[in-house]
Amino acid sequence: MLHYMKKEKEILNYTLEELKEEPPFRAEPAYRAGQVFSAINRRTAAGFEAMPGLSQKLARELGKRFVISTLSCAEHLVSPKDGTEKFLWKLKDGNHVETVLIKGKARKTLCLSAQVGCRFGCPFCASGSQGFIRDLETAEIVNQVLCVRRMKKFRITNVVFMGMGEPLDNYDNVEKAVRIINHPEGIDLGARKITISTCGIVPGIRRLSEIGLQIELSVSLHAANNELRDELVPVNREYPLEVLIPACQEFSRAMGRVVTLEYTVIRGKNDSLKDAEDLARIAGKLGAKVNLIALAEGMDPKTDRTGHKRMQAFRDRIRSKKVTVTVRKSKGKDILAACGQLAAEYRREAVSS
Ligand code: SF4
Repeated sequence: MLHYMKKEKEILNYTLEELKEEPPFRAEPAYRAGQVFSAINRRTAAGFEAMPGLSQKLARELGKRFVISTLSCAEHLVSPKDGTEKFLWKLKDGNHVETVLIKGKARKTLCLSAQVGCRFGCPFCASGSQGFIRDLETAEIVNQVLCVRRMKKFRITNVVFMGMGEPLDNYDNVEKAVRIINHPEGIDLGARKITISTCGIVPGIRRLSEIGLQIELSVSLHAANNELRDELVPVNREYPLEVLIPACQEFSRAMGRVVTLEYTVIRGKNDSLKDAEDLARIAGKLGAKVNLIALAEGMDPKTDRTGHKRMQAFRDRIRSKKVTVTVRKSKGKDILAACGQLAAEYRREAVSS
């Protein structure tokens, strides 16, 4: 808190290129900034004094100018059913965000938050129901990886921006976080192991097409026609399908990556065989794969889950059109692992007390 009041600069907000431009490093050999960047982001050093290879003078100078922040873990839940873990972080301004760790045989995937709340109000999403509160700083995003790594003492193999908030609505901070997570002297996670998931912010998709990193793009489609998408993903009114699809095509072409279309299947809403065919047509046009998601139980009493048989028929109809389709297994349902659920509970409690 004292550090926050003194307004020292948060060093985790800096990419290596930006750090090299900061005054203490300008008079130093070119490799010095990389040494510090690596000590913070790879070895999670907590202070400048203990960093090997730094003179005491430089360590003191860095300590006067920068702070190395961390996140305070307010709650850590582990699903007894499938081992999914949820971390609830209390930020320096008292807000809460979540990170979810999903463990598979070979993968340890971290689902990161990009904002506190979200302004886009998708009706089946807990983050949307909170409204938008603020963007996360780059440091708050990077710290989700560093803190989980420090707590769990293993390497994270994949990162997905599918937690709270819309990553492309906080574009600059998210792009910087991606660069730090990807950098060989930073967290050093391959670009193909990093996925940005968006509800369809077209200017952000266009910018991503130009950054020269082969990251994965996942688009929350949820409806295959504008009328229904306007309702389920309200940002569609601003960026309808005829604008969104070409932006995804451009991303795919520029990055040489296959886009994933996320589709939450909701009974009686978007789960007819005609919907499956419309979805397959869009995926075919994009050369995209489709990921079907069962609606999280109890998220909206007005809607309901599609049954197992109907889900299979929906999937098979898409598959019959030669489109790659998977059904995502829900994990961590017993620990409120869906996007923003736990933070929303904390916020409700704070407001009511
Ligand atoms: S689904 Fe994504 S874009 Fe929609 S409200 Fe939730 S966090 Fe925001």
